[in-house]
Amino acid sequence: MRYAHTIAELVGDTPLVRLNRVTDGVAATVLAKIEYLNPGGSSKDRIAANILDAAERDGLLQPGGTIVEPTSGNTGVGLALIAQQRGYRCVFVVPDKVAEDKRAVLRAYGAEVVVTPTAVEPDDPQSYYSVSDRLVREIPGAFKPNQYANPNGPRSHYESTGPEIWRDTDGRVTHFVAGVGTGGTITGTGRYLREVSNGAVRIVGVDPVGSIYNGGPVHGYDIEGVGEDFWPAAYDPSVVDEIHSVSDAEAFAMTRRLAREEGLLVGGSSGMAVVGALAAARGLDADAIVVVLLPDHGRGYLSKVFDDEWMRSRGYEVEEGQR
Ligand code: PMP
Repeated sequence: MRYAHTIAELVGDTPLVRLNRVTDGVAATVLAKIEYLNPGGSSKDRIAANILDAAERDGLLQPGGTIVEPTSGNTGVGLALIAQQRGYRCVFVVPDKVAEDKRAVLRAYGAEVVVTPTAVEPDDPQSYYSVSDRLVREIPGAFKPNQYANPNGPRSHYESTGPEIWRDTDGRVTHFVAGVGTGGTITGTGRYLREVSNGAVRIVGVDPVGSIYNGGPVHGYDIEGVGEDFWPAAYDPSVVDEIHSVSDAEAFAMTRRLAREEGLLVGGSSGMAVVGALAAARGLDADAIVVVLLPDHGRGYLSKVFDDEWMRSRGYEVEEGQR
């Protein structure tokens, strides 16, 4: 019989699929790594087990302990999946710009959700960083995975995402493209691909206009899960060869095209990553193999990027002639 012993065993080993329509005018092969096929629906499943294993090993997390983390949703789902199997309580702190559907998912997995305002400085006592720090102090036996600084985040991608891409492209990948949030994905995957290819694979980061990584002025934006207003320790800029900045409007237009034209219902950070991948791929010849990582599923964004009214209310264009 062929079966997994627990759902956690099914994390990783996600497939690559070629993009065929949104790549019009691009000679290179563009392959998307479909991270929503992880059991919790995102790339963050990969880091959850690794982080909790290490915390148990280091004695930071004891039986009956509580996991407290500021998370935009996906890390929470990954942690909740593993935590429920091991008997830990989860409390997640989520900024209010995160869609209600995503918060409901966390609760469905058995986690508690604390909502905080998005439009405050990181050091404001109401910010999602400050609130989670306070909860860690107040709850006995609390452990904060701190995905922004935990080296087991990038390590997960070094040990799984990178090797999978190398294996599935028979070592022919020439470019790796990923959005940057905590930076764990690009740092771990990029480091592995650079090492195994002796520096031949070019590592391309993508982040929203308004985020810190592209060096422009820092301000708010609507894309969820990527970009920062501070430099997280999980991000190693020396791994990244170039950064593309993408506007909310470009990212959301591409996210909607991926659903309608490629059959890929993915989140806004995936659309953003594809815009960056196409920018990197333009001008490359037909031998180039560009792998772009699509972090999560689109179902958590039905009331936002896939909702015409929401799009118009935020000033984004909605395609003519559809609906
Ligand atoms: N997209 C989404 C939807 C995410 O939740 C995250 C994680 N914050 C990312 C992209 C970025 O991944 P990383 O934190 O590894 O840079």
